[in-house]
Amino acid sequence: MENFKKYISEINDFPRKGIVFKDLNPIYKEPKIWKEIMLPLEKLITTSKPDFIAGIESRGFITASALAFKKEISLITIRKAKKLPGQVIGVNYELEYGEDRLEIQEGLFKTNSKVLVVDDVLATGGTASAAGKLIRKAGGILIGYAFILELTKLSGRNNLDSKILVESVLKY
Ligand code: AMP
Repeated sequence: MENFKKYISEINDFPRKGIVFKDLNPIYKEPKIWKEIMLPLEKLITTSKPDFIAGIESRGFITASALAFKKEISLITIRKAKKLPGQVIGVNYELEYGEDRLEIQEGLFKTNSKVLVVDDVLATGGTASAAGKLIRKAGGILIGYAFILELTKLSGRNNLDSKILVESVLKY
């Protein structure tokens, strides 16, 4: 997988000073490379058999929808506050500065449905952790988290439930 890292651009001080942003857009431009990178996540779905794939807004939607479409599994969108119509279930979570909120629509899945949370990048794990809590609050069984890229130095895994799957394809 190391040879795929050349398809990830690094942008210094984006979106804020001190952040080295990992841009995955060069992967999406190369269908054969993207396909290879997605293979481990496809295998994870084959073995763990989720009923739903839940993508986190917004870049997580790219990975989650590609997987859901390929594997013919139902897709859920986990969105930032006030983006979804109708009744929603939400979870607030801490950011470095302030608070944010994730929401899903109510009644999307039956209680005890198996749900896999998907995002593009695992950094501090705050977002994925909140997404997992949201799935549980809605009555789902959280079976794991899947990412294309993990920033291991930020120890985001430590913020996730260690008793379930945490899969990332490219580790930095
Ligand atoms: P975190 O909650 O810290 O794990 O941040 C995860 C979210 O922020 C993911 O949805 C990523 O899309 C985005 N993100 C955080 N840090 C980076 C980074 N260095 N490069 C690209 N995306 C990032």
